[in-house]
Amino acid sequence: MTDNKLAKVPNSGEIIKYINETLEVPNNPIIPFISGDGIGPDIWFASVRVFDAAVKKAFDNTKKIEWMEVYAGEKAHELSGEWLPEETAQIIKKYSVAIKGPLTTPIGGGFRSLNVSLRQILDLYACIRPVRHFEGVPSPVKEPQKLNVVIYRENTEDVYAGIEWKSGSKEAKQLIEYIRDNFGKNIRDLSGIGIKPISPFNSKRLVKKALQFAVDKNRSSITLVHKGNIQKFTEGAFRDWGYEVAKDDFSSQVISEADLWDKYNGQANGKVVIKDRIADSIFQQILLRPTEYDVLATTNLNGDYISDACAAQVGGLGLAPGANISDEVALFEATHGTAPKYAGQNKVNPGSLILSGVMMLEHLGWHKAADMIVDATQRTISEKTVTYDLARQMEGATKVSTSGFADAIIANL
Ligand code: NAP
Repeated sequence: MTDNKLAKVPNSGEIIKYINETLEVPNNPIIPFISGDGIGPDIWFASVRVFDAAVKKAFDNTKKIEWMEVYAGEKAHELSGEWLPEETAQIIKKYSVAIKGPLTTPIGGGFRSLNVSLRQILDLYACIRPVRHFEGVPSPVKEPQKLNVVIYRENTEDVYAGIEWKSGSKEAKQLIEYIRDNFGKNIRDLSGIGIKPISPFNSKRLVKKALQFAVDKNRSSITLVHKGNIQKFTEGAFRDWGYEVAKDDFSSQVISEADLWDKYNGQANGKVVIKDRIADSIFQQILLRPTEYDVLATTNLNGDYISDACAAQVGGLGLAPGANISDEVALFEATHGTAPKYAGQNKVNPGSLILSGVMMLEHLGWHKAADMIVDATQRTISEKTVTYDLARQMEGATKVSTSGFADAIIANL
């Protein structure tokens, strides 16, 4: 690409391609990154050293990522006057895999959120958040190690679609009247109105991705999380469409919880068990009986809540990675925000971005490097060499900076 206004293509490196729905990864892939706003640069420049060191060591210098900076947020605005230049999404699409730090939502910039905009432009319909405990990380529960789930959250619709009108607005009034006159349903005057679309297309492709993951990774179960007892035609439909996908596309690899007991005497025999739980009940289930849950697939709002609740159970968002994925593009990101009060202080925990990079390396099929980083992170935490957020909760910890934590992980690779 020669016509980028801001981003510079590295002199060496090759493009990652999708051929016949398979990712073809060269030994020197070009991967775009957005360093992010606030603490973004602090955690990015620490994390990238960890990625490079792990790849170098795991593959004996035969593989190397060629990083390509692309711009969004404050840095993009300074350079071009735009918060999200058009080329940024185009480049991420072209190069298939990218990683980013957190971005500030510009006030009055015409965007609801840069993250939401990127997800919508690139149709990144699955938000994936694995949640597991690292031994030694302080947690509010007695046995945090029992939780090990991967959450697949639908990322494009539900009440997050942005279809809503303010109390007293012309549109809200018109809708209230229309619904009363045509459907005989009363909505109190001056109500704000939000629309919750849940489609079979988006529900099915999300559940299909989650099922494929569960089957590929030999996970024991997938739970459809919904509020279908109350919201029958949105949340309830999500559950029904989920079961439909399992039956239509995975009948030889997946069995329902009902069949498990009615027909197979509780023996799954290596198959993935599909079940469903009401959203409010899953919040107590995941706390009381965490081992019964493995992959969770859910709608957008439920997914937002349950992923933070699960992260809290294993010690918080500081070590919670995430990815936003479509069929052809994967954008990996730290799940926390820009924490502006710590910006530029080399203080915060880079763990969330480092572990998002681990997900990225797994996505590339570079499992050896990914595993090495996970092991080295565990070792570093076990040695109690941690950033302020964990140090303040651990007895006898050695508090290190953002870059110091990265150095310790690299030393442990
Ligand atoms: P935040 O940036 O996540 O920060 C809230 C608090 O979480 C921090 O004050 C800090 O707690 C802790 N924290 C966050 N990241 C940490 C890290 N790496 N290491 C250690 N502690 C960390 O949330 P916010 O203040 O609500 O949001 C600030 C901005 O971020 C907003 O503009 C928001 O729109 C944006 N945002 C972006 C994304 C994204 O890009 N994906 C996501 C969420 C929010 P203590 O003060 O207790 O130390």
